[in-house]
Amino acid sequence: MTRTTATQPAPPPTAAAAFDPYRWRADFPALAQEIHGRPLVYLDNAATTHKPRPVIDAVQRYYERDNANVHRGVHTLSVRATERYEGARAAVRRFINAPDSREVVFVRGATEAINLVAQSYGRTHVGSGDEILITGMEHHSNIVPWQMLCEQTGAVLRVAPLNDDGEVLLDEYERLLTSRTRIVALTHVSNALGTVNPVIEMARLARHAGAAVLVDGAQAVPHQPVDVRALGCDFYVFSAHKTFGPMGTGVLWGRAELLDRMSPYQGGGEMIRSVTFEKTVYAEPPARFEAGTPNVAGAVGLGAAIDYLDHVGRCAIAAYERELLAYATERVQAVPGVRLIGTAREKASILSFVMEGIHAHDVGTVLDQMGIAIRSGHHCAQPVMQRFGVPATCRASLALYNTREDIDTLVYALARTREVLG
Ligand code: PLP
Repeated sequence: MTRTTATQPAPPPTAAAAFDPYRWRADFPALAQEIHGRPLVYLDNAATTHKPRPVIDAVQRYYERDNANVHRGVHTLSVRATERYEGARAAVRRFINAPDSREVVFVRGATEAINLVAQSYGRTHVGSGDEILITGMEHHSNIVPWQMLCEQTGAVLRVAPLNDDGEVLLDEYERLLTSRTRIVALTHVSNALGTVNPVIEMARLARHAGAAVLVDGAQAVPHQPVDVRALGCDFYVFSAHKTFGPMGTGVLWGRAELLDRMSPYQGGGEMIRSVTFEKTVYAEPPARFEAGTPNVAGAVGLGAAIDYLDHVGRCAIAAYERELLAYATERVQAVPGVRLIGTAREKASILSFVMEGIHAHDVGTVLDQMGIAIRSGHHCAQPVMQRFGVPATCRASLALYNTREDIDTLVYALARTREVLG
């Protein structure tokens, strides 16, 4: 304990020490329930986060008061709905420090955003013999759309390998960047390993090689401030539901020069300036990429989630989660028979592990009986499982409302699981 005197004030608490997860936890109604007679311990935040009261209220208020179709109506509700929708776009711009709201496209989620870039940007900029470079830790959403593009164009998919800690081998990555590389697609934070990629450096190298860079931010935005200008990428994607917002909404951010030159991904209403049977003139971005009636309530909920994160403080969240992950890592790896998968120097909020002699699904089932929600499986990252020679892992993933008590309960339950099944 630090001793202080009357003339020597105590040092200010660190951001992490000052952070009170119990205060924020109270905002999440879903966390206050029991599962199989035990208080819910929710550690499956990488799959989806729970929603705080302000987000739930914003969506409900939208449907109770403002519900209307956007952009086309002159009546008051339509004007209000449009203001809410465009207000959410402006909130996303601030959230990721994008230069312009016109660069923010609302989509269904990270998956749709990546497919949009692959099919729109990719189909015009990638040809036979060209190369697309990804990393060995990508989610299937950042693998399959590129494989489909390769099938369609005759391009070749290259994969930057990982070391045993689950970090990209940067020398190999650099070697794989060639004059044929048209697109580099990499995750900001790995959902299966927790690795935080050195995106600034990787994007710099890729752009130097003449490639466009897409960053999958699905597992980054809930945990740390993100500045797309500082990252130096061309596209950045994420899903609202993993960042305390509603399901069915997500974001594609793209640099204006690129979006301006891209063809539509889907055709229909909203994305046109004029239509005749002879010729259709497309709208400017972002409308060009938002065919059909958008998920207005989803965007409104995302806007509320962003306001909530700003209110809690994104730097404070990052500092707190960093400390909680260090605590969880130390405690979980001390459980007999546990082996961590993913031990990168830079990690965020994800702890993947296997228990010797017990299948991950069995661990997940026993933990559920004790009220603990973790994920077991391949986490839509089968190549990561292959790289580490395991069929599946258990994954505990943290959010701002998790506590040391949650980790202690998990550790106790893992030890019990070993007794029951080991
Ligand atoms: N990318 C990463 C890293 C993810 O973790 C996920 C979801 O788990 C996705 C992309 C896909 O997100 P969604 O299913 O919301 O489109």
